[in-house]
Amino acid sequence: MKKLVIGNWKCNPDSFAEAVRNFRLLSKGIKGSSLKKAEVAICPPFAFLAGIFPKKEGRIKAGAQNCFWQERGAFTGEVSALMLKSLRCKYVILGHSERRAFFSETDGMVNKKVKTALAAGLIPVICVGETMNQRKEGITKQVLEEKIKEVTKGVKRKEAEKVVLAYEPVWAVGTGNACPVQEAQSMCLLLRRIFEKIYGKKASAKVDILYGGSVGAENAQDYVKEAGFSGLLVGGASLKPAEFIKIVDAVSRV
Ligand code: PEP
Repeated sequence: MKKLVIGNWKCNPDSFAEAVRNFRLLSKGIKGSSLKKAEVAICPPFAFLAGIFPKKEGRIKAGAQNCFWQERGAFTGEVSALMLKSLRCKYVILGHSERRAFFSETDGMVNKKVKTALAAGLIPVICVGETMNQRKEGITKQVLEEKIKEVTKGVKRKEAEKVVLAYEPVWAVGTGNACPVQEAQSMCLLLRRIFEKIYGKKASAKVDILYGGSVGAENAQDYVKEAGFSGLLVGGASLKPAEFIKIVDAVSRV
């Protein structure tokens, strides 16, 4: 199965010119042979989405960092899944820990967004992970199980097979403190088992599970080769073109 590497630019860079420059470097630098083995998507801020991707779906797929759960209407400041689809987005990240922390997003909200995204033909990249306190309390398994149940509530199996799950331990995101590979491996298995409990073996075997949390060129391959993830969700390092190219290259060689 093809690997998947998604770059999340978060609220960066400061200017459109810089975004275009970064994107050009990535487009030129990622080898065709790597793209045969790994699909690559970039999720820039909404403001740059329409401008940086080519008119037709290109070598690097377009993704967004969020969307609203309503299709349209009086919701100032929001962006709908249909709008993203019309900009040729393939993926949308939902339930990122930064959205949960700074914008009070709940699993219930993420669930509504997942359904809207699927209805619009987008692939939701659903982030789940435990906080450091929950990890210390030893309740990671329950937390992840509850989150996955909640965010997929009411999603039919055929649709659920299309989603991407991202295991993103909250304590590892943007901290430089990546999850130890062995621990991540057991989390990957756990996520698949939870999905299997809800949707059965066939659906669970189809679903891509990504690791995210302080991934860099030096540890990228371990999460795919040793921990068994289908790919990576990369934040900070995706803003450094040379490093992101190395990450894609490393993953494509697994
Ligand atoms: C992310 O933003 O999803 C992420 C994993 O960030 P970082 O790679 O910077 O930890």
